[in-house]
Amino acid sequence: MIRYRCDGCGAELPHTALRYTVNIDVRAAYDVLEVTLLDLVRDHRAEMIELIERLKHKDPREIEETVYKNIKLDLCPSCQRAFIRAPLRFHPEQGERETEIDIDAFLRSLGIGESGEKPAAGPD
Ligand SMILES: [Zn+2]
Repeated sequence: MIRYRCDGCGAELPHTALRYTVNIDVRAAYDVLEVTLLDLVRDHRAEMIELIERLKHKDPREIEETVYKNIKLDLCPSCQRAFIRAPLRFHPEQGERETEIDIDAFLRSLGIGESGEKPAAGPD
């Protein structure tokens, strides 16, 4: 039987439980190349040999990931909600989320709005 684990909180997700999948493609961005006459007459063989020499001693996986990386996540409903709100910081271990500012609570803390008192009128 296939078992899933939430990639956010680590909770085991029963086979029949609601779960969400996230599929992220991270690609190197390139602009459209403009080929000129100079590009056509240049010695591409020498460039290719130099490139191969530079890449020869690098980790193939690292080279591949500089161009393309696919990330797949399984999330429980709680982590899915958090992910949608803040895709880059959805799990507490990734740092504090920016807390939303509750204007009503702020005004109440100033004693405005508790006894029918209204904030001072604005310019309009
Ligand atoms: Zn989770």
